[in-house]
Amino acid sequence: MSYQHVLFAADFSDEALKVGERAREVAQKHEARLSLIHVVENINISLGGGYELLPVLPELPDETLFRESRVALGELAQKLGIENAELWVVNAPSMKEGILGAAKEHKADLIVVGSHGRHGLALLLGSTANAVLHGAPCDVLAVRI
Ligand code: AMP
Repeated sequence: MSYQHVLFAADFSDEALKVGERAREVAQKHEARLSLIHVVENINISLGGGYELLPVLPELPDETLFRESRVALGELAQKLGIENAELWVVNAPSMKEGILGAAKEHKADLIVVGSHGRHGLALLLGSTANAVLHGAPCDVLAVRI
């Protein structure tokens, strides 16, 4: 069995390098295409009581989060020595939808995530890894962190 397209779900935590190195190794071994994806979750801040901050927010994702994410993803790829990988920053309602949507659309056959990142230290498996595992159309490699 050989993988054709490895999708590395990248956050910018300290462990991203370790997870990325594993993704790179697997992709190299299988001579597979390698893509990096970072999901910017839709901002939906509510202060409760029905009052939403949305009128002042529309610029934020484009101007700040997206630009910074693209730069950070490029730097991560550079550190990993995989400048030729495809870099995707996507906006989605959730991490799961962003990662799985891209995996389906681009026919990834292996998704590589860290077992934990920022959101799941107390859990057996981080929330993103868990969510991805439950809906994935392909294999998932959870790199032990
Ligand atoms: P966490 O859900 O924070 O425990 O993260 C576990 C793993 O999910 C990380 O090691 C990454 O591989 C992936 N991940 C977390 N946040 C993102 C994100 N914004 N975009 C893409 N992948 C992510």
